[in-house]
Amino acid sequence: EANERESLYLVNEFANEYFQKVMLKTDQGQAIGLSYFKERGFTNETIKTFNLGYSLNEWHAFTDAALKKGYQLEFLNKTGLTIVKEEKKFDRFKGRVMFPIHSMSGRILGFGGRILKTDKKAAKYLNSPESEVYHKSKILYGLFHAKQSIAKEDNCYLVEGYTDVIQFHQTGIKNVVASSGTALTPEQIRLVNRLTKNITVLFDGDAAGIRASIRGIDLILEQGMNVKVCTFPEGEDPDSFAKQNTLEELASYLDNNAKDFIQFKASLLVKEANNDPIKKAETIREIVNSISKIPDQIKKEIYIQECSRIMDISEDVLFSTLAQINKKEN
Ligand code: ATP
Ligand code: MN
Ligand code: MN
Ligand code: MN
Repeated sequence: EANERESLYLVNEFANEYFQKVMLKTDQGQAIGLSYFKERGFTNETIKTFNLGYSLNEWHAFTDAALKKGYQLEFLNKTGLTIVKEEKKFDRFKGRVMFPIHSMSGRILGFGGRILKTDKKAAKYLNSPESEVYHKSKILYGLFHAKQSIAKEDNCYLVEGYTDVIQFHQTGIKNVVASSGTALTPEQIRLVNRLTKNITVLFDGDAAGIRASIRGIDLILEQGMNVKVCTFPEGEDPDSFAKQNTLEELASYLDNNAKDFIQFKASLLVKEANNDPIKKAETIREIVNSISKIPDQIKKEIYIQECSRIMDISEDVLFSTLAQINKKEN
């Protein structure tokens, strides 16, 4: 209920201040946390804006500090910041750099913590567990910092990771949010849909990732939004690409490479089908399935025409496939 939620926010907000202070004011914080972010190219201003921090590489430094300040173990445990195991208490984010996750209004819902060396067996990113205030499926990272710019630009860039959001912001593109590596949900899309009807999905530059992400995008079409996609050169992601380029270069790359989603998907699948008739039939069904999600009748027809051209198949076949799909769904 409301009281419990407030207690969880207060614990998260204490932790947010604590991790920032530890990073900026302790020797270990500066030597490990701060220098990690500096190496990634983040300025002091960016670090402050996104409240980036560091959790000491000690078993329960944070938990001790919070208990000493009077925060209750029950709430430390419920936020996941403290793991309680057989009467012992451990800091969940021990030795990680910290990315606090803000609500639309700027409260702290939870954290992502990145391990410093990726060769370890531990997960690269660790997130707060589900709680009264942290519902992974309803959160978009960066929305608090992006919302005004999304409305102003009437477009939202959707990226995979925390650092993609931050590096874009620093470069000067602020209308950007991240799904944080999970499959996109209708709730997440609705958050954007209230601010703009236009989404541009930016993929990391690896083919496997693109293939995996494509299905989730139908959910955006279903909400009547216009979807573009943009890929980056092999091995790059939005963060690494933005880091190497000026605002002008990044903006023109995005303008020149953003493609309409359905056209992109049609071209990609046609190329993959490689004139194999069975694969091509499958491809046609998959594309028409995406088209069937679009609520607007006129847009649907325009896409049928476009795809007929891209896939070299008659509009009649596409329209009758569309009719079949509609029949199945009703
Ligand atoms: P970095 O540049 O710091 O290596 P990234 O953001 O490019 O990170 P990706 O591997 O592209 O990382 O993953 C995208 C996002 O997916 C991450 O920002 C994070 O939110 C999430 N993620 C990645 N790996 C994990 C993991 N092992 N567990 C949970 N979430 C993860
Ligand atoms: Mn990736
Ligand atoms: Mn990435
Ligand atoms: Mn990256």
